[in-house]
Amino acid sequence: MIIGVPKEVKNRENRVAVVPGGVKMFTAAGHEVLIQQGAGLGAGITDEEYKLAGAKILPTAGDVWGQAEMIMKVKEPIAEEFPLMREGQILYTYLHLAAAQDLGHELVKRKVSAIAYETIQLPNGALPLLTPMSEVAGRMSVQVGAQCLQKHRGGKGLLLGGVPGVRRGRVTIIGGGVVGINAAKMAIGLGARVTMLDVNAARLAYLDDVFGTDIDTLMSNPENISKSVEESDLVVGAVLIAGAKAPCLVNREMIATMERNSAVVDVAIDQGGCIETIKPTTHDDPVFVEEDVIHYGVTNIPGDVPRTSTYALTNVTHKYAMDLANKGLEKALALDPALKLGLNTFQGIATYRAVAEALGLDYQDIN
Ligand code: NAD
Repeated sequence: MIIGVPKEVKNRENRVAVVPGGVKMFTAAGHEVLIQQGAGLGAGITDEEYKLAGAKILPTAGDVWGQAEMIMKVKEPIAEEFPLMREGQILYTYLHLAAAQDLGHELVKRKVSAIAYETIQLPNGALPLLTPMSEVAGRMSVQVGAQCLQKHRGGKGLLLGGVPGVRRGRVTIIGGGVVGINAAKMAIGLGARVTMLDVNAARLAYLDDVFGTDIDTLMSNPENISKSVEESDLVVGAVLIAGAKAPCLVNREMIATMERNSAVVDVAIDQGGCIETIKPTTHDDPVFVEEDVIHYGVTNIPGDVPRTSTYALTNVTHKYAMDLANKGLEKALALDPALKLGLNTFQGIATYRAVAEALGLDYQDIN
């Protein structure tokens, strides 16, 4: 199969869909890989490294889209890429079509077979291609939160780990899933006092088993949240109710009880956020102050560490890409129910129910 990797065009997107190690595996299996010139530079990968791995470098996006049977990307195509999409082409990338209606209609109109990273789902309900970005965002949340507490960033001037003779910083993490666990690892590593809250008792038991006395666990309810937030230097929002807007768990009054120039990082902002006073921000202008508390609400946190994020993402996307290349689309889908759940559009029909509904199109299963 001919696999094409265009350079990402979305604003400040520096990740790339395939790394040189992936190119080597594709070419060893007899596939051809076309990389657009400069596609890896944002993630620190040169054209020369791709060439050495066996890829062919092409000058423009049009060249790559024009020849490839399967396009691998990171972010959904934007309007300037729509005319490049060809009938029968496989598109394998993050799509989030419910929020990109024009693209959804274009994929159907142009009869592209679009596989969305975010809807590939294992039988146990896990979303394996979302996990690595939650891992990155969770770890980053404490790193950026610690910086927000530094004086020159407007913070209260507190070191999360303290020093001998001076108290440690207190971190509250609301939500003990992938983001929460990774935030906890970083906060514990820095030497902070960590409290984790979750609504799922089994999850709290798991956190207690894994972290032992390194953390306190609390059932997530308004009383516990309110007390824990008041005592914290840093609050991390990390909840998810699959498919729904994040619940508002920390209200303005609770934020107002925090010590002046404390910090909150709401990772759940991409689902609306779980802190009443948060609003979406960008890497260009990541923080704002509300109720004398510094708020960080960046919606694509992993975008600031594109090198780590690229390798983390390609670690999990490669296996399915290899299946598609080796077996062909229809056989790969027939053999793997998890991959089949990733199929959002196929030969002019919408094949993922929630996306079909969001786009106002008829849903059809393919067998
Ligand atoms: P997850 O499903 O692994 O974990 C979510 C946890 O929240 C679960 O343990 C669940 O029990 C818990 N929860 C649900 N309701 C709760 C409540 N009322 N109180 C306390 N806990 C509650 O999800 P995840 O992968 O950790 O993702 C968390 C959030 O981070 C999601 O909204 C996700 O979209 C977001 N995210 C944002 C970025 C970013 O760049 N901003 C990057 C990655 C993920």
